[in-house]
Amino acid sequence: MLKFAICTLGCKVNQYESECIAGDFMRRGFNLVNFTEPADIYIINTCTVTNITEAKSRKIIRRAARKNPGAFIVVTGCYAELKSDDIKAIGCVDLVVGNGGKADVAHLVSEALSVSDVVEVVKLLKKPNFHTRALVKIQDGCDQFCSYCIVPYTRGSLKSRDPREVVTEVERLVESEVKEVVLTGIHLGKYGWDLNEKDALEKLLLKLNDVAGLERIHLSSIELKELTPGLISLMVSESKICRHLHIPLQSGSDKILRSMNRNYTANDFIETVGQIKNLVPEVAITTDVIVGFPGETEECFQQTESLVKRVGFRKLHVFRFSPRSGTRAAEMSDKIPDFTKKSRSYRLIKTGEMLADDFLNQFLGRKLEVLVERFNDKKLLTGLTDNYMRVNFEGFDRLWGQIASIQALKVQNGEIYGKIMDEDKADSVAVVNQI
Ligand code: SF4
Repeated sequence: MLKFAICTLGCKVNQYESECIAGDFMRRGFNLVNFTEPADIYIINTCTVTNITEAKSRKIIRRAARKNPGAFIVVTGCYAELKSDDIKAIGCVDLVVGNGGKADVAHLVSEALSVSDVVEVVKLLKKPNFHTRALVKIQDGCDQFCSYCIVPYTRGSLKSRDPREVVTEVERLVESEVKEVVLTGIHLGKYGWDLNEKDALEKLLLKLNDVAGLERIHLSSIELKELTPGLISLMVSESKICRHLHIPLQSGSDKILRSMNRNYTANDFIETVGQIKNLVPEVAITTDVIVGFPGETEECFQQTESLVKRVGFRKLHVFRFSPRSGTRAAEMSDKIPDFTKKSRSYRLIKTGEMLADDFLNQFLGRKLEVLVERFNDKKLLTGLTDNYMRVNFEGFDRLWGQIASIQALKVQNGEIYGKIMDEDKADSVAVVNQI
């Protein structure tokens, strides 16, 4: 049985597509191994969001070739889409496949290697990591053209999946014991816009809400202007829809937001998030912020800092601006020195950590409903609440895939530690501990 390994860089959409590629290979009888192990086929699903991720992609390609010089190496993803010639020039790559051809990777490799004995696996194997959560891509492409972003050039225009196809995929996932789906897309909030259906996401959520056995529906990143009242009221009325929204902020300065070609002001952000927080109790709001964008003065940065504190994010992802060739921002003057970017990023990360602790601390002593995923490296069970808090506790593997009631006892390194509240389950833990 030939062994294959897959390495994924970049966004959740890439992660989802890698899972699909892995599933295709497994159905054909190939054996999935860790990327650090010797394999017959290496697949690198690349990213090109910054020049740094391109360099990282090249490094991983070379590392795979060194691990097994005779391996068949396939490169796909956004870097392959944008710069296939650069990848071919590396010299060790056998196949370069753009984003549009990802669904054919397993077929192309099987043909190239003349592998004919296809093993059909009856059940869809969509849990390569044996997790209770699974990504489901519902949308691709973006038409926003933020000035720092290359993605619209690599992913093309908006493309939405047929809702019936999405529901079927989710039903199959539930059959294989997935309890939570994370709906992903490059521009998720515009799901259905290419089909002239601006409320398609709400309709899809309602359909998925009816899937028996599915416990939770999670939205991945969604843009501020696409958070419609309909979507928010679904979060209130339908308990399966998770109370977590990742809304990219990028900057709290109107001047920088304009320069980034973002379609909202700082005030829009504060108002919309304020309304959501009033309507959805204990909702977790997470975000991305870019520091050191060209023209970002100390005053602009302080506006970002103060907005971040005012909103009280559950989690901040802070990125230092890195010019991406091919984008408008890469040509902008008034660049910010690296040491300034570094110190602003440090300040904001510290603010983010403080806000995260504030968010988590409010739950201490309270009962949390945790979807149990796996054991962590400290041999504790770990899972997420529907409002995106990671909770760790002592337990046994029978709880995998179940929702457990946990009392929150302490907060450490951005996570909650607690104990099982359900008496039956707690007794079982005690028995297991005695053995
Ligand atoms: S919304 Fe902006 S940042 Fe997001 S993918 Fe589209 S262009 Fe890139």
